[in-house]
Amino acid sequence: MSFLPVINEWPEEALRDLYADLGPADVEAALAREHRDLKDLAALFSPHATPYLEVMAQEAQRLSRWHFGRTISLYTPIYISNLCAADCVYCGFSARSGSREKRITLRPEEIRKECENLAAQGFESILLLTGEAPKVVTPRYINKAIQICREYFASVSVEIYAVDTDTYREFVASGLEGVTLYMETYHRPTYREVHLLGEKADYDYRLDAMDRAGAAGVRKINIGALLGLYDWRIDLLWTALHARHLQKHYWQSAVGVSFPRLRHTPDRYQIEHFITDRELVQSILALRLFLPEVGINLSTREMPEFRDHLIPLGVTHMSAGSSTQPGGYATYRRGEADERTNYREVLEQFEIEDTRSTEAVVEAIRAHGYDPVWKDFDHAFDEPDGDSPSSLKGPATTMRSM
Ligand code: SF4
Repeated sequence: MSFLPVINEWPEEALRDLYADLGPADVEAALAREHRDLKDLAALFSPHATPYLEVMAQEAQRLSRWHFGRTISLYTPIYISNLCAADCVYCGFSARSGSREKRITLRPEEIRKECENLAAQGFESILLLTGEAPKVVTPRYINKAIQICREYFASVSVEIYAVDTDTYREFVASGLEGVTLYMETYHRPTYREVHLLGEKADYDYRLDAMDRAGAAGVRKINIGALLGLYDWRIDLLWTALHARHLQKHYWQSAVGVSFPRLRHTPDRYQIEHFITDRELVQSILALRLFLPEVGINLSTREMPEFRDHLIPLGVTHMSAGSSTQPGGYATYRRGEADERTNYREVLEQFEIEDTRSTEAVVEAIRAHGYDPVWKDFDHAFDEPDGDSPSSLKGPATTMRSM
């Protein structure tokens, strides 16, 4: 079920009309309601909501605890290739940004090495990432990588180029649990300006990727707008509509929303619509109030203090100990030129802000009275005898000390 008709019903002018006559009374009305509509969300996103941030934070905390408990699910990314034939002007992996020499695609034994390192740190949930180079980093290669990772982790998700429904189905058959795919911006003219080459330039095909993933039986679908590309107050209304559309049509899948914020870009791209810390907090709180049941993900793109501040305010998923270069954990570790690590310089997608160790992130989560969750799903639930206790390898939710 395509999202296109929904977004066509809500063109930018219609969204701007929602903001047109708002005032503090609309924010108060939105806060008083239990089920909020799109106009309520606009009120909570609007500058009129700034004096109400504390009230919004309390309500976001209440809703998050009701639906998710005092838990933060942990995951970490594994970049398996930095080859990319697309040209997204804001990205360090783009064909026309970073150098050619530092491109690499991990071999199966190198993927295993990365997995061993992360499994030893306690991770049970990982996100596999690639650029867009489907002729070299083929769906078959990605499928193999999923199979390898499933030997080590309970939950494997991908953040890769958009594929067709049958390919998502094959991935699910290999043990894939989740797909993360950001529309980057829902604003078509901006999308055209910043996506110059590659299949990603096809707006409509990317827009419907999550419908294809949902139809293929992917259990977790995670969307987002890359904040900084366009006016966040417009892009996040479309994101919210998209999340609600996916919840409605793929009720068997858990829908999540990420808030990736552009910080570091190649020299040729200047961020025009930078979202401030305060606005980012406001946007997360407002989205929690509009969609109480969506997972909210905050990555290591953000500073440690900022991430910690958001732990009790609606975030449910955090990455930790991340590297954005292929082989960055064990195979081609930065700055370690010895016989153990086969060092070579490898292009990273972006610089992370939260460079703390996994242990330090776990400590911060606990210090806020929350439990880090390493595993919230077991594939035994998918099996016909999944209700038999003996079929489960361990508890579906695992909270453990490091
Ligand atoms: S955003 Fe993705 S597709 Fe675009 S250049 Fe970067 S890695 Fe390639």
